[in-house]
Amino acid sequence: MEIWFSENQTGNFGIKARVKSVLLHEFSPFQEITVYDTFEFGRMLVLDKAVMFTDKNEFVYHEMLGLVPVFAHAGPENILIIGGGDGGAVRECLKNPRVKHIDLVEIDKRVVEVSEEFFPLIASMLKDERVRVIAEDGIEFLKRFNAAYDIILIDSTDPVGPAEGLFKRDFYESAASALKDDGIFVAQTESPFFNANLIRDINMILRELYSKTYLYLASIPVYPGGLWSFTAGSKAYDPRFVNRAYEGFDFSAEGLGLRYYSPEVHSSSFVLPNFVGEILK
Ligand code: SAM
Repeated sequence: MEIWFSENQTGNFGIKARVKSVLLHEFSPFQEITVYDTFEFGRMLVLDKAVMFTDKNEFVYHEMLGLVPVFAHAGPENILIIGGGDGGAVRECLKNPRVKHIDLVEIDKRVVEVSEEFFPLIASMLKDERVRVIAEDGIEFLKRFNAAYDIILIDSTDPVGPAEGLFKRDFYESAASALKDDGIFVAQTESPFFNANLIRDINMILRELYSKTYLYLASIPVYPGGLWSFTAGSKAYDPRFVNRAYEGFDFSAEGLGLRYYSPEVHSSSFVLPNFVGEILK
C-alpha cells in the first residue's frame, strides 16, 4: 500500500510526495510536527502540514537566507535569527569567519530537538560555542534590544499562528531598532506566484525603514510555486553585492560546502523577472 503526504498550498493547488515511512508525528504546544522519510527528497520536516525543508534541497534556502546578508556586511559579528530552529541558517552564517555570536530565538524547542535527532547535518552547528539557542517568541525577545545586532534574519513559518506577528509593521520597526547603524535585515517573504500582495506590503514598510531595500529570489522545489522570495533591508551596505572586505576570500564550493551560493549567484538573485518587478512597483 502506497503512503503519500500532500500539502494543500493555496486551497486550490498543492504538492504530494510518496512516503517510505513516518519517522515522527506529534503536537508541540505550538504546532503539529511530522518527519517523513520520502522517496524523492529524503527526510522532510512538516509543520502544521506545510513542508519546511527536506534533506535534498534545504541547502538552497539556508545558503541564500544566511550567506547573502553575512557576505554583504563587512563585519557581521553579532547575528540574531528568529525562527530557524532547525539550525540551517546558523550553519550557513558560521561559514563567514567574521561571525562571533548568533542568538537563535525559536519559539518551539521541540523543533530544535527534532532537528537534532532527525536532521543532524542541518542542526550540525547548534551546539557551537558561538551559538545561543533561546526558546522564546521572537516578537517579545526583540523588544528588549536596541542597536545590538549586525544582522537580523527572520527564518519563520508562513504568516499564520505564532509567525503572524513576524510579518507586521511594528515587528519590522522593532527589528530596525535592534539593528546597529550599519545592520542588515533579511526576512523570507513567501511566494511571488501566490503572495504578491504580502511581498508588496512588506517591501513598502521596509523601504520606510532602510535606505537599501531589495528583493531576491531562489528556486525551492517544495515551496509554493517553486520560486521563493527574500527581502533585504540595509542601513549602509548594498545587500546585492559581496562586500569588498571579502576580496580574495575563498568561495570555492569545496572550501565552504556551497551547493547554491556563490558571489555570482548572490548578485544575480537580485535581478528580478518582470512579473516580480511588477509586484514591487
Ligand atoms: N528553515 C526552514 C526552511 O528551510 O524554511 C523553515 C523555517 S523554521 C522551521 C520556522 C520556524 O519558525 C519554526 O520552527 C517555528 O516554530 C518558528 N517560529 C514561528 N513563529 C515564531 C516566533 N514568533 N518566534 C520564534 N520562532 C517562531
